Amino acid sequence: MSTMKFCRECNNILYPKEDKEQKILLYACRNCDHQEIAENNCVYRNEVHHSVAERTQVLQDVAADPTLPRTKSVKAACATIKKLSSRLALILSSMVST
Ligand SMILES: [Zn+2]
Repeated sequence: MSTMKFCRECNNILYPKEDKEQKILLYACRNCDHQEIAENNCVYRNEVHHSVAERTQVLQDVAADPTLPRTKSVKAACATIKKLSSRLALILSSMVST
């Protein structure tokens, strides 16, 4: 994991900088001329931590969302329910077997 690097000469932060001729990543000081070759090519890492409450959130307004597909046909609604219930049965049976 990459951490913040500091200049050996003046203790300022080293910033990632490319060496276009040699095609390598360097860490360079903006205060003095100090540069060092990067050990790792990762310069930024964004870790997103979701809470349990976020994952189990139930959207209350989903029934009123006009952008979601819907039908007034009873036949189509029954087919959808049948499809969903068979998928649910598959999920449940896989949960029981593991
Ligand atoms: Zn420096």
